[in-house]
Formats: sequence, C-alpha cells, structure tokens
Amino acid sequence: MTPTRLWFRQDLRLQDNPALHAAIARGGPIIPVYILDDAGEGRWVMGAAARWWVHHALTALDAALRSRGSRLIVARGESATVLRELIASTGAETVFWNRRYEPATIARDAQVKAEFSAAGLEVKSFTGALLNEPHTITNKQGRPFQVFTPYWRHCLTLPVAAPIKMDTGALVAPAKWPRSLAVPELELLPRIPWDAGFAAVWAPGETAARARLREFAAGAMAEYGDGRDQPARDGTSRLSPHLHFGEVSPRQVWAAVRAAAKGSGVFPPSKGAGVFLSEVGWREFAHHLLFHFPQTPERPLREEFARFPWAPDPRAKKLRAWERGQTGYPIVDAGMRQLWQTGWMHNRVRMIVASFLVKHLRLPWTQGSGWFWDTLVDADLASNTLGWQWSAGCGADAAPYFRIFAPVLQGNKFDPAGDYVRRWVPELSRLPAESIHAPWEAPPHVLAAAGVKLGGNYPKPIVDHATARNAALAAFRELRAGKSVA
Ligand code: FAD
Repeated sequence: MTPTRLWFRQDLRLQDNPALHAAIARGGPIIPVYILDDAGEGRWVMGAAARWWVHHALTALDAALRSRGSRLIVARGESATVLRELIASTGAETVFWNRRYEPATIARDAQVKAEFSAAGLEVKSFTGALLNEPHTITNKQGRPFQVFTPYWRHCLTLPVAAPIKMDTGALVAPAKWPRSLAVPELELLPRIPWDAGFAAVWAPGETAARARLREFAAGAMAEYGDGRDQPARDGTSRLSPHLHFGEVSPRQVWAAVRAAAKGSGVFPPSKGAGVFLSEVGWREFAHHLLFHFPQTPERPLREEFARFPWAPDPRAKKLRAWERGQTGYPIVDAGMRQLWQTGWMHNRVRMIVASFLVKHLRLPWTQGSGWFWDTLVDADLASNTLGWQWSAGCGADAAPYFRIFAPVLQGNKFDPAGDYVRRWVPELSRLPAESIHAPWEAPPHVLAAAGVKLGGNYPKPIVDHATARNAALAAFRELRAGKSVA
C-alpha cells in the first residue's frame, strides 16, 4: 500500500489520536511529519516560549515514534509546498491530520485540503483537540453562545466519548524514509538563554503530560475548588501547555476524572473535580468564541471598546516596567517574574496583572496579550484572547470594566502569608506578611530590617492605586457616554 502522510500539528501524542488511529486502521506505512510553517500562522506566529516547548515536544515525539519502529520527519516552510514535495518523493496518496481552530490555520488547512483533494488524494481531518467542535454548538436561536454558564450547561448535556483505544505497538515504516531536518535545525530554542528556568519546571512530551494528569487527578484535584486560587500552592493541574500542544487530549482528561469517580459512582467525584472540568470547559468556550468571532485576537468583541482612551506611555516606560516585574506592586511583579522565569503564570495572578495593565496603567490589552503570546509556554490564541478580553471588560462574559482588581487586596486575600511574592520577588522575602503586599506602607524600621530600600533595590509603585482607579473609571464613563476623551 502507498503510505499515509500523518501531519502532526498541535496533537503531539500517540494515544487518543484520531488521525493516527485512522492511519493505522487504513493499513500500510505511515510517514509522520511535523512542519514549522510560520507564515501559515498568519499574524500569530508562535512565540519564543512556545517554540522552546515545541523543540522538546518534537524530540520526545520522535523518540516515542522511534521506539515503535517509526520516526518523525521534520521540515520547515509553507505547509502545502512541503507536503507536495513529500508526497511526490514518497508516493503517498493519503494525508491525515487533526484539526486546529485558529482563523489563519483554518484558512490554510482548507486550501491544503482543496488542492490535494483536487489532485485525487485522500485527505481527511479529524477532531482531537476539543470535546466539541465550535461549529457544532449553538444556542436556542441557532447563534453562538457568548456567556459561559449556558454554554457549559449545554455542553454537559452532550456525551463525552472515551479516549480511543489504540494499538501503537509498532508502526509500519515506509521502504525509504524521506529527508528530514534534525529538530535542532528548526532553531526553536531562544538565542539568549532566558529559558534556563523552564527545564526545572516543565517536561514537555506525552509521557510527562499523562504522568502530570495522573498525579493531579489522584491528588490536588479534590481540593481544586480552593487550591486553584492560591498561587503559592501547587493547586492547579499545570496541564495547559500539554493541552495546547495536544500531548494530552481533553477526552483523556475527562476519562481521568471519570476514573477517579469509579469508586464512588458519583460524577464528578468531588466539588473540586467539577470545578476543574468547568475550567476545561472555559478552554472549549474560548475556542467557540475564537471560531465565531475570528477578529477578536486584534479587536474587542464589544466594538465600542475600540474607542477606549488609552493612556500615553512615552518610550513604553510603563509597559516595560510591567513586563519586567518592576511596577512596585509585589503581587503584579511576582506574577510577571514567574512568567519570565518559567513561561507560565498562575491563573489568579494572570487576572491581576492583566487588570493592572489595562486599568491601572490604561495600556491597550493587545500589548499585554502580545507579551503573553511571546512568553507563555501555553500561549494559545483562543484562551489568551478570551483571558485578555475578559480582563479588559471588552469580551464575551467579561468582568465589567468598572470592576478593578486592587492589587494589595488581591495579594492579601490570595497570598496571605506572602509566600508567592517571597518566591518570585526575593528582594522582598524578609518582609513580614502584613507588609509584603504594600511595602510602601511599612514603617522605615521594618523595611530596613528586611533590607528593602524603596526606589533602591525595589521600585516605588509606578502609579497610585486610588488615582489610577479613578482615572480608569472616568475613562470608562466617558466611553459609555460616547464622548471622545483626550
Ligand atoms: P487548571 O486550573 O488546572 O485548568 C485546567 C485546564 O483548563 C488548563 O490547563 C486550561 O487548558 C484550561 N483552562 C483553565 N482556565 C482557563 C481559562 N480561564 N480560559 C481557558 N482555558 C482555561 N490559558 C492558556 O492555556 N493559554 C493562554 O495563552 C492563556 N492566556 C491567558 C491570559 C489571561 C489574561 C488570563 C486571565 C488567562 C489565560 N489563560 C490561558 C487561562 C488560564 O490562566 C490558564 O489556562 C491556566 O492558568 C493554566 O494553568 P493550569 O493548567 O494549571 O490550569
């Protein structure tokens, strides 16, 4: 039989992989390929932290394939061109892949499908990244949902299939392998070594992803309801990059929760598990919104927000202070430094730093989403867009603009002992808990004893909370009144 070309994209796993399953079922040799196609991603070319992840994930996938008598063919360039060349050199008549849902990749994949189908090839795509594909879900009026609760209530009425049982013991190799780059030749690792902290925290690849899921389901999941709001704790699954790159599927996540419920027969097995599944639901909702509102990575869903009067920021001074974790607000700085050092930030803190950028600094949310895009290992166009539009108050089911997170209150509430700040802002580590979220209010002798010099080894707040809050509310009122504000 002619070989099947199996196009890996954001489905870097061998289990519960519908395209691979179909290729095995068809029989004959399989040629797995990964193409680094930056142009095919449109305006959202993969950021630096995500590239670090892909380097290691591809290495892991190649090793997993080799242990089954196969290997990963790695290429760089325009997807259709690379596939065309590979098809010509191997005589493949079949191309299979699992679908992606970003506007640019949908358009690219449609073109690839049209070209190869017209050339008489068998081209099939499958659903492997979501529980429900965005176009299959509508509200009673036949329109896309824009509010999470009814969306998720509706999804919970739909069946969730079990992961596909796959026999990937050995994969049939072609008589001759086509040429391939080595993974390092894709040059995905950063030139400046800012990724030093990543490897200490992350293990990309399917094996690590499944181990993480097992560990979470057996441990922190039951307490997730409370644990997920305490950034100092390891209370969340940390599955986001694994889910984004498809090293584990949402169906496998669902099945792990189901398995945890087996003993009790109650599903979900704990309050924590139910909340956790609803977060997986937010991921689905994000894809639903991106699919139906493809303009939202660049433009607010609520169009009136396009006129929002952002504050001037000469020489991007405020933006840089935010990016570098030098705002003088410890919980904000801790989050931004966790992001820089590990490529990830706790969800509670993502909301705090996003609110701070948009409301305290009044800088455009797209500047924040751009920075996240480049620095998050889990950078995901759907979830990042939803998270930023939610925080900025301009998206679907968003936090209202007038709800402005007070960083000190948020810090005291969710990091009461200050351990999260101590970990990521070491210059404040000797401050007592009562001063750690507002060092500028600490008596001089407390600062001196802790070795903190405001304006010296730690900045004074770059904006005053009350003043910034009032300015943000005034700008919002003007926007609502339809006036243009200078
Ligand atoms: P858990 O709490 O264990 O949740 C399990 C899974 O559910 C996550 O792995 C993730 O896939 C999904 N999930 C959880 N919360 C959300 C959410 N609010 N929206 C969508 N999916 C969710 N998530 C990304 O995966 N990529 C992004 O680029 C991204 N950008 C964000 C930007 C902002 C401003 C905000 C506020 C949130 C963003 N999120 C993003 C959502 C969320 O912060 C992360 O998914 C979560 O912190 C990942 O950690 P976890 O795997 O431990 O999550």
